[in-house]
Amino acid sequence: MKKQRGKGLSFARRIYMPRTVGLGIGCICVSAALYPLNMPGWVWALMLFNGFVWPHLAYQIASRSLRPYQAERRNIICDSLWGGFWAASVQFNPIATVTILSMMTMNNVAAGGPKLFLQGALAQMSGVIIAWLLFGIAFTSTTTPIQVWACLPSLTLYPLAVGMVFYRLAFKLAEHKRALSALSRTDSLTGLLNHGAWKDLLHVTFQQCRQNQVTSVIALIDIDHFKVINDTYGHIIGDSVLRQLSIELRRNLREGDLAGRYGGDEFCVILPDMSLRQAWEVMERLRKLLNDYRHPQVPELRIRLSIGLATYQTAFTDAIAWLNDADKALYIAKNTGRNKISVTLPPPTGGSTTRISA
Ligand code: GH3
Ligand code: MG
Repeated sequence: MKKQRGKGLSFARRIYMPRTVGLGIGCICVSAALYPLNMPGWVWALMLFNGFVWPHLAYQIASRSLRPYQAERRNIICDSLWGGFWAASVQFNPIATVTILSMMTMNNVAAGGPKLFLQGALAQMSGVIIAWLLFGIAFTSTTTPIQVWACLPSLTLYPLAVGMVFYRLAFKLAEHKRALSALSRTDSLTGLLNHGAWKDLLHVTFQQCRQNQVTSVIALIDIDHFKVINDTYGHIIGDSVLRQLSIELRRNLREGDLAGRYGGDEFCVILPDMSLRQAWEVMERLRKLLNDYRHPQVPELRIRLSIGLATYQTAFTDAIAWLNDADKALYIAKNTGRNKISVTLPPPTGGSTTRISA
């Protein structure tokens, strides 16, 4: 309910500025068309009320309502009723009628699509009938140059105001879309790239390595006996260990390095344009940092990492082959004592892949 009210309020706020501008300058157009018709004083007073009081009153009605969205739609229908009333009151003076009705139609379609357009058209007809009942049915086919000039502000400034409002709306929507897209690519616990986003970037990096013949390295990092950490200290502490690893990753990587959470307690890093030796040094520093880390609530907790490194090789047919190599290196680290880095090296020409670990 609160959320719906908020949405309705922003809708009412969005309409407020163009309505104030549109009805204010619309008075010039209606005045020029009313002037030759010798209308009684109350008609002029009503026009001034519609032009200068109604926009603020409508906003107050909508913003104080429990259902601002519905209230604002009713206000828009009232706008159309007023529009029909003024069109018939000026005896369908061609330029004034076209100005009033086209501006209102634009507003209704922009605010509520075909449904509000139809409801607005019905309201305009009701406004016409009220004016006919009050003043009788009459038509004017002539338009004076002054009346044309008097309608120009409405014809230019009102579309400008509506255009600005919808430009701002489109801009906000684009911002929300960007934020949502960033969220859908982020791991919520660690703030790193999630599995899918990281893999997309792995494919991109693979293509770049292939085209530019640069050396890049990927690392798969897995926490040793993480299940035991969870079982011994609980999942909250387990989560904080995962977060600590992500913090150290961010702190120790370059801006262009791409760190992600592969899943569970496994992390993945792309180190573009880096030699295997440099990658080794970066990962060794990370491994030692986590080794030395003391958790403030459970200082006896130790974090050990097994890391598999794989450098890009021209022999790889795709990014998955590269990832498989890193996975194999991690498997070796896990099976040769854990808490270490294992590497797959490019094969010497014609030879097979060698593996080293330390
Ligand atoms: P190994 O040394 O072979 O890597 O063993 P391990 O215990 O680290 O690995 P295993 O795959 O057996 O266990 C990983 C555990 O990570 C199991 C799962 O409950 C836990 N886990 C996965 N995601 C999360 C998470 O988001 N938070 C916490 N606290 N635990 C998680
Ligand atoms: Mg593990």
